[in-house]
Amino acid sequence: MNDVGGHVSARVSGPDILLRCRGADEEGILFTRDDQIGRFSSVGADGRNSELMPPIESPIHTAIYAARPDVRAVVHAHAPGSLLCGLTGIDVLPVRAYDYGPIRLVLEGVPTYESAALVDRPERAAALVATLGQKNACLMRGHGIVTTGTTVREATMRAIAYENAARMTWRLETSGRATIPMSEEEIVDSGGQGLTRSAATVNGSWFEWSWRYYRRLLAERDAGRMVPVDKGWP
Ligand SMILES: [Zn+2]
Repeated sequence: MNDVGGHVSARVSGPDILLRCRGADEEGILFTRDDQIGRFSSVGADGRNSELMPPIESPIHTAIYAARPDVRAVVHAHAPGSLLCGLTGIDVLPVRAYDYGPIRLVLEGVPTYESAALVDRPERAAALVATLGQKNACLMRGHGIVTTGTTVREATMRAIAYENAARMTWRLETSGRATIPMSEEEIVDSGGQGLTRSAATVNGSWFEWSWRYYRRLLAERDAGRMVPVDKGWP
């Protein structure tokens, strides 16, 4: 999620949430600092204060928390692969049997919110929440994605998993070659492993080890040893 825009939030207690805000010296979500994270009520007030400016699309977060008591974290990103697939009406494919995260999302279902307009007011947020339903991810056609989770790690890893699958799908669709899709049986067999083993263990471990992988990539980048950039993507 290396776009300038996008935001992450987490429910902390009661109606209070932590929300990634904008600062005067904004450098984009990839370079978020602790002092850009504000604590706001997700009910009633719009959360604005003199120090931090909540994103214009903060209704995405407040509406989801109001409708979904099970959700404790929300990610909204303007991810390019998801954007390209959404704008061209290409269904994001589960293309790798070993890629547990995207396959789980496909099995759970990822609905499409059809409006590309900024979700900057309650009516639009309500429509987005209605489309999301009880799912954990929603494609926003011409705009990006929103994912949810019980932790920031879960919501973040779902967003990355979906975006990676979207980028792979886009490359396949624009390769000029016919794609041989995974069969329904293969999809269920791959993604269903979490059901036949211990669902909690597999789910938890996938989110955890994937999170640690991306955290390590950032550490390596900061140490100047490698740059975790998918070249060719903004
Ligand atoms: Zn947006």
